[in-house]
Amino acid sequence: MSFDNSGNVLVFHRANNIWDSSTFDIQNVYQHQSKGPIAGNTIIAFNRVSGAVADEWGAGMFYMPHGITVDRESNVWVTDVALHQVMKFSEKNRTHPELVLGTKFRPGHSEVTFCKPTAVAVLDNGDFFVADGYCNARILKYSRSGEFVLSWGKNAFGGTGYAHAPPNFFAVPHALALASDRNLLCVADRENGRVQCFNTEDGKFHSQFHSQVIGDRLFSVGYSPANGGQLFVVNGPDLHNGPPTHRVLGFVIDMGTHKVTSKFGQFENPHDVIVSPDGTEVMH
Ligand code: ZN
Repeated sequence: MSFDNSGNVLVFHRANNIWDSSTFDIQNVYQHQSKGPIAGNTIIAFNRVSGAVADEWGAGMFYMPHGITVDRESNVWVTDVALHQVMKFSEKNRTHPELVLGTKFRPGHSEVTFCKPTAVAVLDNGDFFVADGYCNARILKYSRSGEFVLSWGKNAFGGTGYAHAPPNFFAVPHALALASDRNLLCVADRENGRVQCFNTEDGKFHSQFHSQVIGDRLFSVGYSPANGGQLFVVNGPDLHNGPPTHRVLGFVIDMGTHKVTSKFGQFENPHDVIVSPDGTEVMH
């Protein structure tokens, strides 16, 4: 989910494709290639006030949509976990990507291949970051032309929780938020239940954010510079059986004090959150 530059809310959806135990083999190769891509439009722009569909596209290209973001030049960036690819679409051409990174249907862990990449974040100068992803647990930085710059992150595998996971270890880097005014890239470290923020220049660890009220699963993060800097996050349902120990909600974290200052929403299994720059509108 993302805002575009007209203030619409962009959703990248999977139609009827469900991610279950038959979707990938043990090598992370997508098993339903022969069914072809999702036939209908997968990218829908909704007017954020009326909810009316303002635009829709992206038919016949994607298999298992995951992340979507819009940069300041109105390019739309998406990740598809079945394709193991990242694509950039210019505003003029919504049928052929201007840039494709990764090898179609082939998981990898090199500078130019991914394994179930989850998200993209684009700096004002066009350089961008890829969260990669479900299997590799790392962040990669590229120049605006797609040249590899640097990568960081180690795999914490199942997730050890924020109390134990050291900085730089990820258990599914699941979403990205840029805090451009602070030169920080903040990563939803999903199964460690925390947000880790890194310097956008060199990828060095800067700070992390977590809370007992959020718990050990944190699915997405958004940023607003308002009120001294705030992170908007959503947590996830407990994985264990038995009575839930955490309510599934949105939370606002003050970046100065690291404290949860408010809560919003009430979800079953949220996947994403976005926030308007002034911090007054949150979509999930
Ligand atoms: Zn996901």
